[in-house]
Amino acid sequence: MGIIVLIEPQAGHKPDLDGKTWVIAGLRAVHAAPSDPDTPDDPADRTFCGQDTAPLERHSYHPDSPGAHWYPANLTPWVCVGCDTALRG
Ligand SMILES: [Zn+2]
Repeated sequence: MGIIVLIEPQAGHKPDLDGKTWVIAGLRAVHAAPSDPDTPDDPADRTFCGQDTAPLERHSYHPDSPGAHWYPANLTPWVCVGCDTALRG
């Protein structure tokens, strides 16, 4: 099962659709979702913490080694506790 990193933008923030140049100030939380079984490049309907993935923006980060964190290190302060707990469990 793949993991897709998703960014929850601040209300009113205009997302960068390329997902490459996220302005930290526009970020509310970092979530993760399992990849959709039918379309592995897309996230499933819900994050690991149960949030609807539709309004979330995809982040280009992928863990590059076994044991690596599921989130980009520079976004650690914004990691969703619910998703992190689910992924560690
Ligand atoms: Zn979450």
